[in-house]
Amino acid sequence: MQYTPSSTRYDNMNYIRCGKSGIKLPQISLGLWHNFGAVDKFENSRAMILRAFDLGITHFDLANNYGPPYGSAEETFGLILKKDLMTYRDELIISTKAGWDMWPGPYGNFGSRKYLIASIDQSLKRMNLEYVDIFYHHRPDPETPLEETMGALAHIIKSGKALHVGISQYKPEETKKAASILQQMGVKCLIHQPNYNLFDRWIENGLTNVLDELGIGCIVFSPLAQGILSDKYLNGIPSDSRAGKERTYLKRSQITEEILNKVQKLNELAQKRGQSLAQMSLAWVLKNPTVTSALIGSSKVSQIEDSVDALKNLKFDDDELSQINEIIS
Ligand code: NDP
Repeated sequence: MQYTPSSTRYDNMNYIRCGKSGIKLPQISLGLWHNFGAVDKFENSRAMILRAFDLGITHFDLANNYGPPYGSAEETFGLILKKDLMTYRDELIISTKAGWDMWPGPYGNFGSRKYLIASIDQSLKRMNLEYVDIFYHHRPDPETPLEETMGALAHIIKSGKALHVGISQYKPEETKKAASILQQMGVKCLIHQPNYNLFDRWIENGLTNVLDELGIGCIVFSPLAQGILSDKYLNGIPSDSRAGKERTYLKRSQITEEILNKVQKLNELAQKRGQSLAQMSLAWVLKNPTVTSALIGSSKVSQIEDSVDALKNLKFDDDELSQINEIIS
């Protein structure tokens, strides 16, 4: 069936300026790390992307190796773009990344100029795009000189293959250095992509200050701790959940008794606020003034709907915040 986007798609989403830049991102963005590979059902992947767009999610985040197999999430997204969304390309912010293992041998991993430039070319081909809006270096490379990695990002911008560049998982000092090298080459670091959620608050120890100071936006990944910050694991591990499936990055052993005790208490608090735990967890990351967008994953259309509904209640009172701090301490 031919897709026509909802005419009300911009009515209920908030769009937040990404650092000191001209780009605004939706407060909820969708990532394609899991559930969009060739092993997944195409019609479900397509339904999630289209429902997200209908709800005002204009930003979709990929990486060269999302799948499985590697590359296949970009292929799936490319097919959906071609079939349904190409007319709306200018309404979309599409990002991809390179930095983790992608192809065999010494040139398909980390941060060399050769890897990053070859990888963006492959990504554009898989998605059938002329450019991406944001290209990231996916993680710091301890061996390649930062000048080479940032030089590759600057080259990618100057060759028109990406409109903006970003970095992911860089620590505060590395972020400062990377942004400064880019600046010397006339390129602004638009955005940083760190992990952040109720159980993992590392960005509060220095990174957010650096991002504020440098005017770099912040999109936080795994805001639901891969689904642990929802009610789904409170009565066992469902077979269709990330922890219940094979070949995912969430292991059963990560769902410990100690974690579940905390999740149970957080769930009770969320219920008192009239929210699902997933919604409260998203509201909590979004209350950090440095955070531009919460980058969610999803396995079902209904999860995207639930997550976007978090925007209906983003406020916390002092008592709720101290209860949360007590539970997670
Ligand atoms: P989340 O923490 O949002 O976890 C997503 C999972 O949570 C879903 O697959 C689903 O689990 C569950 N879920 C989502 N919404 C709901 C809901 N409303 N109610 C109940 N359960 C829900 O994020 P991800 O870990 O998936 O990461 C998001 C994105 O961040 C990735 O797709 C990727 O784009 C990016 N990322 C970047 C990294 C980097 O190094 N830069 C690393 C990791 C991710 P289930 O499948 O069990 O149903």
